[in-house]
Amino acid sequence: MKILFVSSEVSPFAKTGGLADVAGSLPKALRKTGHDVRIIMPFYHCVESGNFTIKKARKGFEVPVDGIMQKGLLRQTTLGDIPVYLVGKKEYFQRPNLYGTSAGDYPDNSQRFGFFCQGVLDLLKRLDFRPDIIHCHDWQTATIPYLIKNEHKDDPFFSKTALVFTIHNLAYQGIFEREALSSFGLDDSHFTVDRLEYYGKINLMKGGILSADVINTVSNAYCREIQTEEMGCGLHGVLQQRAHDLYGILNGIDYQDWNPSTDPLIFKNYTAATLSGKAANKKELQKALGLEQNPTTPLLGMITRLSSQKGLDLLETLLPKLRKENLQLVLLGSGDEKYMKMLSSLRHTPSESLSINLCFDLALSRKIYAASDMFLMPSLYEPCGLGQLIAFRYGSVPVVRKTGGLADTVFDIRDGVREPNGFTFDDYTPAAFWNAICRALDEYKDRKKWDKMVRNGMKSDFSWDHSGRDYEALYDKALKKIRQ
Ligand code: ADP
Repeated sequence: MKILFVSSEVSPFAKTGGLADVAGSLPKALRKTGHDVRIIMPFYHCVESGNFTIKKARKGFEVPVDGIMQKGLLRQTTLGDIPVYLVGKKEYFQRPNLYGTSAGDYPDNSQRFGFFCQGVLDLLKRLDFRPDIIHCHDWQTATIPYLIKNEHKDDPFFSKTALVFTIHNLAYQGIFEREALSSFGLDDSHFTVDRLEYYGKINLMKGGILSADVINTVSNAYCREIQTEEMGCGLHGVLQQRAHDLYGILNGIDYQDWNPSTDPLIFKNYTAATLSGKAANKKELQKALGLEQNPTTPLLGMITRLSSQKGLDLLETLLPKLRKENLQLVLLGSGDEKYMKMLSSLRHTPSESLSINLCFDLALSRKIYAASDMFLMPSLYEPCGLGQLIAFRYGSVPVVRKTGGLADTVFDIRDGVREPNGFTFDDYTPAAFWNAICRALDEYKDRKKWDKMVRNGMKSDFSWDHSGRDYEALYDKALKKIRQ
């Protein structure tokens, strides 16, 4: 199959969260099984200034954004042997961040992604690459299926291409004022309730859901949740309308990349059979972060975007209690100003038990996964969650709220499972979170039982081997649909 991945972030080139991990690892898994996979993404500043080999391509393109023809350029790099096309325009993508600052989104995001989506379609023709599958992700690329099914519906170039749309997080929908239609080269006829209109604005995610041949999200639990009024973020009706074409496929992670036995960025490599290596990581991280170097003090890690989704208000309430316990907490996060402020105020009190790191730092993240005994994810909702999957791999036991992909992957002793791999709680309350932490701290005291749980996580398989096959089956379904 010829498969084009269209994503606004792809690891290792540009990353703000789990989408980048998926867009950087699923293509590799599909390539391994023999598909012709290519990726297309914006040519951000971080890609240009990163340590990547970028080739110039002679092809440029031109698309209408708000009624003015805007010229773009094409660059190319590779991910292994996968071609990666980079869609460039200085004015739109030469910025310090991908979507905005901690104060909010860039005000011209509709123009930036209108330019990108239209540019992708234009470039495919110039490259004469006719994919069997165009696989789009989240609101930033949701307009691609919409444009193909509406503006290009009689265009023979796309007549044999099936469109797959993956929802990584339904809460971010790409909602803009009506005028933003023209950023995508669309006129006012698209401002109707059966098209892009949504409570007096336009909603790009809605367009993707309505137009793709098949839609999926990143866990079975989240797939069920988003069809309910409570968790459908206002799009449950549209999703219910497409229920027959809506699937859940659990994310995987790249087991070669996330591998404690080879990871060059951690202090010491280890496996499930050599957990003393994990203890060495803990010792070194404690030293590096100014924490007391004590091997028996439980070390709790948390690595997260700082957004209301991630349960930071629960953490805030519990902090005074946590600080009284015999434990250490290492947090790494960046994001919303509100949480940056809340957490940075804590940094002023020197502490041997608390380390707050307010930045995006891949090397530090790996050291925390390797050093921590427990990994906290008290999310309000979680489409899949990669943090807990990486934590399993590095032998850190997740303590999570039972929602979305966390509910599908973390199994508590209380669930009656034979091989528990973590601790879960149901109610989104500080008390329930506290209770789960206390149960984990209690279990930690019994080294033998604890190590067994660590190993249960380490030997589980959340690589792309399973989910890659599920995506192949999903692509087959999409192709069948357009051939009907
Ligand atoms: P989301 O996609 O909602 O942010 P996931 O759990 O699916 O959450 O994925 C988060 C990914 O981003 C993981 O790979 C995690 O390690 C990484 N990450 C989050 N915050 C940071 C940070 N401040 N520094 C480095 N990596 C981070």
